[in-house]
Amino acid sequence: MVMLEVRELGHAYPDGHVALHDLSLKVAGGELVSIVGPSGCGKSTLLRCVAGLLRPVRGQVVLDGAPIVGVPDNLAVVFQDYSRSLYPWLSVRDNVALPLRRRGMGRAERRTVAVEALESVGLASAAGKHPWQLSGGMQQRVAIARALAYRPALLLMDEPFGSVDAQTREDLEDLLLRVRGGSGMTILLVTHDIDESVYVGDRVVVLSAAPGSVKADLPVELPAP
Ligand code: ADP
Ligand code: ADP
Repeated sequence: MVMLEVRELGHAYPDGHVALHDLSLKVAGGELVSIVGPSGCGKSTLLRCVAGLLRPVRGQVVLDGAPIVGVPDNLAVVFQDYSRSLYPWLSVRDNVALPLRRRGMGRAERRTVAVEALESVGLASAAGKHPWQLSGGMQQRVAIARALAYRPALLLMDEPFGSVDAQTREDLEDLLLRVRGGSGMTILLVTHDIDESVYVGDRVVVLSAAPGSVKADLPVELPAP
C-alpha cells in the first residue's frame, strides 16, 4: 500500500494565479481521503501535482518516502473532464482493457476483466461502441470502470461522479467502496458534494480559499460512515 505525503506544496500558474499555498497532507496506505472546498481553491491543481502532471513551484509530493519524479507508477486518474480521458479510436471495451497490459494479462483475460468492469458500471451493452457514441455521463462511467479494473496502488479522482444522475452517482459511490475493500488502493477523491465526501471518505480534508491566498485547513476528522 502506498503512503502519500504532500509537503508544503505551493503553486502559481504562469499567469500569476496562486492555486495552492503551503499545503501539507498525509494519506496512509489504503486510506480514502475526500477533498472538498470551494471552486478555485486548488483541488484540481493538487491532484495534477500528485499525478506528476504539474510540477509545483514549491514543496514536494512524496510516495512511500521518495519524492516523485514525473508520473508515478501504478497510478490511475479519473479526470473531471471526461471528454479528454478516453481514446476515441478504441472501442469502449478496449479503452478499459488497454491499461491491463501492464498487469501482464493476456488478451482474453483483459477482455473478460474489461467487460466485467463495464457491467459493474451498467455499461456492458456499450462494450462494442466507441466513446463518441456515448453520452458524457456514460463516458465518465467508462473512465471509472477503466480505473477500477486497473486496481492502481494510487487512485486520484477529480469530481468523478459529477456528470451522472443522482441514482447512478449513489451506485457508483457504492461501487467505489466495494472495489476498494481489500484492494489496498490509496485514494484521493475531490468532490463538491459534502454528503459524498463523508459517505465515501475515511477522512475529509477541507481546503479553504481566501481572496488572494489559498490555505489548507487542518484535516477535519469525521466519523466513519
Ligand atoms: P471546478 O473545479 O470548480 O469545476 P475548474 O477546475 O474547471 O472548476 O476551474 C476552476 C477555475 O479555474 C475557474 O474559475 C476557471 O475559469 C479557472 N481555470 C481553469 N483552467 C484555467 C486556465 N487554463 N487558465 C485560467 N483559468 C483557468
Ligand atoms: P479547484 O479544482 O479547487 O476548483 P483549481 O485547482 O482548478 O481549483 O484552480 C485553483 C486556482 O488556479 C484558481 O484560481 C484557478 O483559476 C487557477 N487555475 C487553475 N488552472 C489554471 C491554469 N491552467 N492557468 C492559470 N490559472 C489556473
